[in-house]
Amino acid sequence: MSIWLDDPRKFRTLTGQAHQVAMNMLRPISRTYDRAEHAYPKELDMLAAMIDGLAESGASEGAGAAGVRRDDTDQDAGGVKNGTNLASVMSIAEMCWGDVGLLLSMPRQGLGNSAIASVADDEQLRRFEGVWAGMAITEPGTGSDSANITTTAVLDGDEYVINGEKIYVTSGDRADHIVVWATLDRDLGRAAIKSFVVAKGTPGMRVDRLEHKLGIRASDTATIIFEDCRVPKENLLGSPEIDPKGGFAGAMATFDNTRPLVAAMAVGCATAALDLTRELLAGAGVVVDYDRPAHLQSAAAAKVLQMEADLEAARLLMLQAAWMADNRKPNSLEASMAKAKAGRVGSDITLCCVELCGTVGYSENELLEKWARDSKILDIFEGTQQIQQLIIARRVLGLSSAELK
Ligand SMILES: Cc1cc2nc3c(=O)[nH]c(=O)nc-3n(C[C@H](O)[C@H](O)[C@H](O)COP(=O)(O)OP(=O)(O)OC[C@H]3O[C@@H](n4cnc5c(N)ncnc54)[C@H](O)[C@@H]3O)c2cc1C
Repeated sequence: MSIWLDDPRKFRTLTGQAHQVAMNMLRPISRTYDRAEHAYPKELDMLAAMIDGLAESGASEGAGAAGVRRDDTDQDAGGVKNGTNLASVMSIAEMCWGDVGLLLSMPRQGLGNSAIASVADDEQLRRFEGVWAGMAITEPGTGSDSANITTTAVLDGDEYVINGEKIYVTSGDRADHIVVWATLDRDLGRAAIKSFVVAKGTPGMRVDRLEHKLGIRASDTATIIFEDCRVPKENLLGSPEIDPKGGFAGAMATFDNTRPLVAAMAVGCATAALDLTRELLAGAGVVVDYDRPAHLQSAAAAKVLQMEADLEAARLLMLQAAWMADNRKPNSLEASMAKAKAGRVGSDITLCCVELCGTVGYSENELLEKWARDSKILDIFEGTQQIQQLIIARRVLGLSSAELK
């Protein structure tokens, strides 16, 4: 038996529209841009313009990558709120039922946009409205250990001078802005790490190369070099003060908002795989009976039931983490739990669907093999499975990052 909680009524139009877009606009071009790696999916321009229109009219409920801002002003008086974080995870899951790589390529919906929405002050938020921003943290020598980044930002007059190399930047080529993490002083450790918004075309910043990848091939992944790249000092997001107690927490706050979004991508992709698998199995005479215990059904039906339960657990954790953000509750633990669960079961489910459907699952005639490739990254970026488990363990045990590594 499964428990299915209804989606909030006010988001039904939004999620319905997102599902239609996924089915009628993303799915039909999904295979094309999987094969044409690095080709720009030009169809997304029209889609992004439609999304902008919905945002202006208020019909999108502020959903999307930038919908993660924790806004004091629109808090329902005294009550709980189903807000833009919830709208974002629900609409992103629907879009990723269509295609994760294309969702990640959507103009003006980059992870850098979420970083700006999370950390920018009101003036910066206005100044960077409408930009398309990628997010550059990872370096050749630094991945999970993001506190060790070596890219530097040195104040010189009214500008910061940035030097360093960033790798694996999603939308790094196509986005018009990059949010780059750099340290103000390497001797001061994680507290000195800040994020900076750099506009494309700024002298000293260049895209060096693009990566060929296992999955999400519709999404461009770039190496970006910063050589004496000068940005106005007003482009530092948040406070320039180095506060040993809270400095890194400022930049890290982005993850509390973006991890539920990545969980949503995993939930959407796994839902797609499971929906198609159920259809293909039914065509082969395997029907899941929800009124009988799993152990009295065929092995395939029992497996579907188990995957559905896992997926529902991931979906509920995703909703909880986003809902907590909407209600301005600290959600680092829940954001990591959602990302860990959804990232892991997303990969497991999509791969198991390939297995259950046999040759049909493995062939390029269906999208099952593609979804198995696409979902793997969702258990890696924005913090790997192991890193989420580490964060969860620290929070549950009350240990610091120095005490539990
Ligand atoms: C397609 C793609 C898109 C990406 N997009 C972006 C982007 O937009 N911006 C960006 O900044 N980065 C991006 N990344 C980089 C991604 O965030 C990193 O790959 C990720 O953080 C892991 O870092 P790493 O690859 O250096 O692996 P490592 O940190 O070297 O980890 C290797 C393995 O060791 C494990 N491990 C590491 N530390 C521990 C520990 N303490 N305990 C237990 N296990 C541990 C990891 O979980 C992993 O399994 C992207 C990567 C890919 C592949």
